[in-house]
Amino acid sequence: MTSSNLWTDGNALAGPLHDVFSVEVTTAIGRCTNCRREGPMAEARVYDHAPGVVARCPACDQVLLRLVRDRGRAWLDLRGLTWLQVPVTKQP
Ligand SMILES: [Zn+2]
Repeated sequence: MTSSNLWTDGNALAGPLHDVFSVEVTTAIGRCTNCRREGPMAEARVYDHAPGVVARCPACDQVLLRLVRDRGRAWLDLRGLTWLQVPVTKQP
């Protein structure tokens, strides 16, 4: 905790982000940054024949996300999504 009453450090993200990142992502809805299509991530075109996984927009082929895993770590690039809406059961 900081001396400010307006903000705290990133450790405060642990609970809220745990709820967001522990969901079934195929049920999530995403918006493409290129064509603004909104739809379930289950409809994305997934290319997984490489060291990582790439998901592309089914409407315009924009890369929505990239995921690379190596030696106990994962890199997740969501630049192709304006937002990702995930169902959560816990209320804040
Ligand atoms: Zn698109």
